[in-house]
Amino acid sequence: MSNVDTADRSIDHLYPEFRPRVTAILADMDEWCKANWPGHKSTISESYRTQARQDWLYAQGRTRPGDIVTWTLHSSHSSGLAADIVGDAGNGPTWNCPDTFWEALTRSAHAHGMQRIMDYSDRLTCHTFNGPLTTTPRTMPRRRGSNSKPGTR
Ligand SMILES: [Zn+2]
Repeated sequence: MSNVDTADRSIDHLYPEFRPRVTAILADMDEWCKANWPGHKSTISESYRTQARQDWLYAQGRTRPGDIVTWTLHSSHSSGLAADIVGDAGNGPTWNCPDTFWEALTRSAHAHGMQRIMDYSDRLTCHTFNGPLTTTPRTMPRRRGSNSKPGTR
């Protein structure tokens, strides 16, 4: 279906119950862009991730050259429960978004019962959403210890 070096960006490959939430967040963010960041919209940079791709990403910076991009072999992406939402100026995903974009993304995620998780180091963006669909962010367990380390999840 897809190669390990290619991100799947299709919303249709996410867990069914997760899809409407992602759709709602994208709609919120497009609305926000219209008012605050003209010429931009939001987009999914990655949705479902095969375990083979997760393994491949994990190898980067460890057994394969490059910077480390993930801290886990067990990503929510591989369950179809994470979507990386970023900006788009019309030519594809960009992580070069104003801080206010990410703040709005956090608010929208919470409004739709999702969590926002840092994917890379804190200098970069936070763009992953996941979380148990049957609980609210308020009751979700806090990530601590090694799980609190920023990384692609
Ligand atoms: Zn992610």
